[in-house]
Amino acid sequence: MKLAFAYIRRSSYKQQENNSVKIQKQHILEFASRNNLSIPEEFIFIEDVTSAYTKPANKRKQLMNLSDKMIEMNISTIVFHDVSRMDRTGYSFTIDFYRPLREKLPNLAVYTTKSTDPIDPEDLEMKMNFLLFHHESEVKSDRAVSSLVKDLTQGHPIRPGSKIPYGYIQKDKKLYPNEDAEIVSFIFFLYSWGHSFKKIAFLLNQAEIPSPLGISWGASSIEKILKNTVYTGHLLWHIPKLKDDQKEFKFKHSHESIVNSFYLDLHQQNKKLQRNYGRLDTPFLFLNKIKCQTCYEVLKTQNGSTTRNGVKYHYPYYVCKSCQFKVAAQEVHEKLLPKVLSHVHNLASSSQNKQNALQYIEKTTSDVDKSIQEIKSYIEDLHKKIEIAKQLSDRELELLIVPLLEQSEKNLCDHQKCKKNLFNIYELVNTDKFFFRFQNILSYHLGRPEQRLILLYFVDQILVTSDHQTRIMFKSNIFDDLVTPSS
Ligand SMILES: [Zn+2]
Repeated sequence: MKLAFAYIRRSSYKQQENNSVKIQKQHILEFASRNNLSIPEEFIFIEDVTSAYTKPANKRKQLMNLSDKMIEMNISTIVFHDVSRMDRTGYSFTIDFYRPLREKLPNLAVYTTKSTDPIDPEDLEMKMNFLLFHHESEVKSDRAVSSLVKDLTQGHPIRPGSKIPYGYIQKDKKLYPNEDAEIVSFIFFLYSWGHSFKKIAFLLNQAEIPSPLGISWGASSIEKILKNTVYTGHLLWHIPKLKDDQKEFKFKHSHESIVNSFYLDLHQQNKKLQRNYGRLDTPFLFLNKIKCQTCYEVLKTQNGSTTRNGVKYHYPYYVCKSCQFKVAAQEVHEKLLPKVLSHVHNLASSSQNKQNALQYIEKTTSDVDKSIQEIKSYIEDLHKKIEIAKQLSDRELELLIVPLLEQSEKNLCDHQKCKKNLFNIYELVNTDKFFFRFQNILSYHLGRPEQRLILLYFVDQILVTSDHQTRIMFKSNIFDDLVTPSS
């Protein structure tokens, strides 16, 4: 039996009963006995709720006590309940706790009850987790913005002629990912969860990740990275002097990719959802998804205010313009969001769902294939007709066929893109990457864009009646939006 310490932090998130101290402790002790660890009662450190969001690890008393005790007793094993119990302030767990401790205790092994392997805080996935817990409402973004402006106006030297994209180095005219590559993939990841350029820049600055120019990140540098096709492994050359259809040269797989092109599809998909349903970062989480069940009309959003004891209170609500039924936004959100999340969590963890999804994608692919064949033979037919028109010197007929041909070729292109998209999704579902995105949503402290994105992906509509009865209609197939050709 090896001696080990444990760390428990009281949750400030009241709905999460599964995170109570008692339950965390029980899980930790079960984990210990499974893994041949011994954790005496006095080795369990319990941190109080004290604004754990904003306090970096080095300000958290119990965590620091614990680290002193570990060094003093030369015990290098510690168990946390889960990642979210470690840190919510970005990197401080790594910087203030993990790294200094590892210097003193080289065999340091940090476990969570979720895995028998010790965690590695330097691992990209861990970093993502840390940042995702970093909930936007907990930190004042003004502060970061003003420090950003200050940094930007200081005037740092810019490396001359640096045309090599961030995340790569160039050797013999070829690109190779460097240590910044993981930051690039992280940016694509955050964007795929609906975070704005500005928000991503803010998070990276918070995590003290240096920007390409060694100064603070700004929205435009994030945008530039996200728009650069180089990261999917292809090289695009623009030659402005050439005619339109020859301007662009694409060298496929010219170098190692940093991001899966699926992310680009997801980004497109998210943009499409925003165009159809409105922005992601809105206090109206159910915007354009919530309907009056009596009138079957989409509820409008309104901001109300009331004055009580001289203090003005603001409250957002949804209202039906037909029957004037009104419901407080907060009321429906609090009631329904946990239900949505737990449904999605179960769905994402179910192997039956995976099988259904794969079958659906296969079926859709074969439908798209059929359409492609039809369009192709139609195009062939049009070409034959053009030939005949030419032979007959019937210029008028020829001019009638040309637009049809152009339209069909565009249509073919859309269908081929769609097929490629389906292929990517099939791969991602099959290798568990797609649903994996949603498997841990219950333990994350999700931000608003993340919550709304999940909603837009999985929920068809939410119905409310005037007596406050509610019904959530989930989509029968969440890939419908992803795979339909745009034409
Ligand atoms: Zn109504």
